Amino acid sequence: MRIAIIGAGFGGMAAAYDLKNAGQKVRIYESANYVGGLASGFKEPHWDWSVEKFYHHWFQSDSEMLGLIKELGWEDKVLFPRPLTVMYHKGKFYPFDSILKMALFPGLGFGLDKIRFGFVGLFLRLTNNWKALEKVTADAWMMKWAGRNVYEKMWKPLLVGKFGPYYDQVNMAWMWARIKARTTRLGTFEGGFQRFANLFAEHLREMGVEIRLEVSVESIKREQAQMSVKSEGESKSFDKVLVTTSPNLMAKLTPDLPKDYLKGLLELKSMGAVVMVLSLKHQLSNEGYYWFNLPKEAGYPMLALVEHTNFVSKEHFGGDHIVYAGDYLQVGHEYFSMSDEELLERFTPAFEKFNPEFQRNWVKKIWVFKTNYAQPVPLVDHSKNIPAIPTPIEGLYFASMSQVYPWDRGTNFAVEIGRRAARMMDDKQ
Ligand SMILES: Cc1cc2nc3c(=O)[nH]c(=O)nc-3n(C[C@H](O)[C@H](O)[C@H](O)COP(=O)(O)OP(=O)(O)OC[C@H]3O[C@@H](n4cnc5c(N)ncnc54)[C@H](O)[C@@H]3O)c2cc1C
Repeated sequence: MRIAIIGAGFGGMAAAYDLKNAGQKVRIYESANYVGGLASGFKEPHWDWSVEKFYHHWFQSDSEMLGLIKELGWEDKVLFPRPLTVMYHKGKFYPFDSILKMALFPGLGFGLDKIRFGFVGLFLRLTNNWKALEKVTADAWMMKWAGRNVYEKMWKPLLVGKFGPYYDQVNMAWMWARIKARTTRLGTFEGGFQRFANLFAEHLREMGVEIRLEVSVESIKREQAQMSVKSEGESKSFDKVLVTTSPNLMAKLTPDLPKDYLKGLLELKSMGAVVMVLSLKHQLSNEGYYWFNLPKEAGYPMLALVEHTNFVSKEHFGGDHIVYAGDYLQVGHEYFSMSDEELLERFTPAFEKFNPEFQRNWVKKIWVFKTNYAQPVPLVDHSKNIPAIPTPIEGLYFASMSQVYPWDRGTNFAVEIGRRAARMMDDKQ
């Protein structure tokens, strides 16, 4: 079979790997001039490692991704340091990444609230019944079982930060999946995610997969017994096509899809993201903290402050200290249209809160990355709204971040859904 895959993110590349191994002829179309999609990175000439455009790490429970890396023989290149994650409480930050540190966190006092927090966490870790949890919002469930105080201090800021205006509509299965699948040790690839993506692409090319960079697919149509993929003036026929873009882009590429399926794609909600990466002359967090969870009510102009070089050594970046300041936002938020300098102006007072000695001249360089499609929003009974991977058009398949539910999107689940799609497409299965 001749197969086209649209997108050289980890989903598309994982699907290509299995389909090629199954003996199919595979071509990947990628509109960017690099592979890796949302998990891609960039590099300054004096850096040995790349930095992800949007902060990325793996969890020890990311078995699909770690399994793929093992199959490729690169498990010795995966590192799992244990960086420090901290929570805000009354103007200070407290480590919050072990049972002991949670027990010592002053934000919940030391009485009933802490016990409720512990029991709710334990229940969510132990239960597998997410189907029951998707019938209720995280807002209502947490308010009932964790109590107002615990919910408002611990869980509501997370929901507001990730989902903005949708915070009280997101279902409890999303929260369950998040608590279930996360570990305190966080992983990365030696050299950065981009190095891994490049090695993977190189391996695919050696296997015979054709990867066409800087080719944007414009439309996909069924023509007699074939799928026709049109890109920049050229049309090419394939037996099957897998699309790994956002649901919105999928709807634009394939207008011939039946109305119901198209409506389902267009009704899926998601948040965008704006992330600034800064290289600094000095360390921002004197305590060496990696991830700062920031509640919106505390007035920070960003949701997360992440000091990457408190996770991997600054030696990989020529001594530069790398910091991310990012937020999940609805498309149309002012951050999407602000210039990089304006955004830096907005963020600068917050950097002083992390380190009173911070000065504007610590900033060597900034980069700002924006995406309309960063985080799918799962509403109540969301499993009914997930578009099927095989679409109603014979030979056309769709696998995106919006379909990995109940799991929260991530490269691990991009690999999982890419491989699942490949099994469905391979006629020998
Ligand atoms: C802010 C942020 C933080 C994140 N943090 C983490 C994390 O810590 N850990 C983690 O594992 N994951 C994280 N993720 C999620 C992770 O990046 C994604 O789940 C994963 O990369 C999705 O892979 P994909 O292959 O499904 O899609 P994508 O990576 O989006 O790949 C789709 C590809 O399709 C291409 N494309 C689009 N349109 C066309 C067209 N018309 N023609 C040709 N090509 C096209 C795009 O250029 C892109 O390369 C994060 C994401 C964001 C936004």
